Amino acid sequence: MFGQGLIKGLQITWGRLLDKKHTVKYPYEKIEMFPRFHGRFELDVEKCIACGLCANACPNKVIEMEKEKVDKKQFLTKYVMRIEYCLFCGLCVESCNKDALKFTNVLDMNQYRRSWVRLSLVDRPAPEAAEEAPKEETPAKTVKVEAAAGQAPVKEG
Ligand code: SF4
Ligand code: SF4
Repeated sequence: MFGQGLIKGLQITWGRLLDKKHTVKYPYEKIEMFPRFHGRFELDVEKCIACGLCANACPNKVIEMEKEKVDKKQFLTKYVMRIEYCLFCGLCVESCNKDALKFTNVLDMNQYRRSWVRLSLVDRPAPEAAEEAPKEETPAKTVKVEAAAGQAPVKEG
């Protein structure tokens, strides 16, 4: 019969009208993300040992890092993520065995310009290396010359 489809469609529309709404007015309202959501990155610089495992694990070479050696340890001076090339695959986070690099559930990383998307997580100078303790002076080997003429000198030390 003509119009039967229209009536069925309207029945569904009116039936859903008073249902619970599933949409929100983003960005004024936000929904809670899942705990394992792959959002913005977070780096705990206290835990990071600048080993570079995360940068090596990345298939898109997103992570750029610089480090300096301070007191026989690697000190992270720069850690930049070129998010515009990131797949959010999580390989970098999984490869970090110090649990320093993590995902957060922050999803809005949009910017007006492409170059602004880059995420600079660390940008700091390396501290001055602690001054080395002065070495103890080792006594120089002395050659004792016997006063008596004609005797060979005796070595000490
Ligand atoms: S999530 Fe994947 S693509 Fe993005 S930085 Fe990590 S390893 Fe690279
Ligand atoms: S793998 Fe972890 S500890 Fe190593 S450089 Fe990356 S964030 Fe730092």
